[in-house]
Amino acid sequence: MSDAVFTGGCQCGAIRFKVSGEVGIASICHCRMCQKAFGNYFAALVDTREAELVWTRGELKHFHSSNHVRRGFCGSCGTPMTYEADDGVAVAAGAFDDPSQLRPVVQFGIEGKLPFVDRLHELPGRHTMDDIAAAPFLSDIISYQHPDHDTKVWPPQRGEPEPDNKEGKA
Ligand SMILES: [Zn+2]
Ligand SMILES: [Zn+2]
Repeated sequence: MSDAVFTGGCQCGAIRFKVSGEVGIASICHCRMCQKAFGNYFAALVDTREAELVWTRGELKHFHSSNHVRRGFCGSCGTPMTYEADDGVAVAAGAFDDPSQLRPVVQFGIEGKLPFVDRLHELPGRHTMDDIAAAPFLSDIISYQHPDHDTKVWPPQRGEPEPDNKEGKA
């Protein structure tokens, strides 16, 4: 897809990674295994086979979902992170610091596609703060999510400046 450097990590910040070089295509997989592994209607993954993938903080835990594939995730917060097969590793698109750079270009496993997925864009939409009356805790929420950039120290130590935690939601 592009010759650049991408960073990312899990929600809690225990796992961080860097992908550089020829980052491959981003894709959606509808197969039942990806639904389970991501706890979602489908998985979004970025091919890193032609790139250099470095884990810059922490170590993934793995579950072998089959005899050929294992799934990497953060053992501290549970964020799904990888799909790892004999021919390479794909990294969860939403784990990248800027997933907007990773537009998916193909769908896999469409035999497992859930019937309503093609109509998600038709659903009524609400901004998070539209629900402030029903969820007043939103007014003073403090995110513990790792920010969308690398950090020297995480979690922040006492006396350290607060991270920019405006970008996450609950
Ligand atoms: Zn984590
Ligand atoms: Zn799949």
